[in-house]
Amino acid sequence: MRTHPGNVFVISAPSGTGKSTLANRLVASLDNFIFSISTTTRAARPGEVNGKDYFFVDDTAFDQMVHEDGFIEWVQVYGNRYGTGRKWLQGVLDSGQDVLLDIETTGALNLRRAIPDAVMIFILPPSASELEHRLRGRGKDSEIQIQERMKYARHELELYHAYDFLVVNDDLEMAYQQMEAIVWATRVRRERMVSRAQAILKGF
Ligand code: ADP
Ligand code: 5GP
Repeated sequence: MRTHPGNVFVISAPSGTGKSTLANRLVASLDNFIFSISTTTRAARPGEVNGKDYFFVDDTAFDQMVHEDGFIEWVQVYGNRYGTGRKWLQGVLDSGQDVLLDIETTGALNLRRAIPDAVMIFILPPSASELEHRLRGRGKDSEIQIQERMKYARHELELYHAYDFLVVNDDLEMAYQQMEAIVWATRVRRERMVSRAQAILKGF
């Protein structure tokens, strides 16, 4: 029996694969489909808004939430901590909305243990050379950072077998259609449709 009406989608991808491009379009296009807002100790970047991009907190507040078991999962990445708030997520799911979590692979695997019916999507670049090309094209990283990201990409790609769906982001439109298809197929899974089917059945 499901304990909440909303669905949890997790997407992970090596940096530069096109995850933000795909995720932003999904959230903009689908009704009842929102981004998860994580809690982090990292400083806000210019333009980021507290309560929209992240809940920005200090170390003490983060420690307190860990102590109170307030996170479904949390990790330390590059010296900062990031976590998915238990209460926040439960509230959104109870309201019937689907949530998209953009979290790195370690957190995704932990989340799967806490929410076994989370739908896990891994996005792959079509090749190593194309990933490097996209990282360069984005113009956000130094040469050293690009080499670091390429090395970390290999580690992340090795975890693909822990995911339910593998989407190769070669042709952007095709990858987007595949992502949307995963969401729609999830929404009509039998276990998600039981109460609707029962209501229809009652009328006979
Ligand atoms: P991520 O969020 O995974 O780090 P981005 O969404 O920022 O990646 O995309 C990285 C770069 O690759 C951006 O410049 C984006 O426009 C480009 N990109 C995304 N998808 C494709 C695609 N299918 N083909 C070519 N370029 C793409
Ligand atoms: P950024 O600092 O660039 O916003 O995020 C850095 C990394 O942290 C990204 O890979 C992002 O997916 C990941 N991340 C953001 N929020 C969370 C979270 O709540 N949990 C986990 N496990 N990872 C997160």
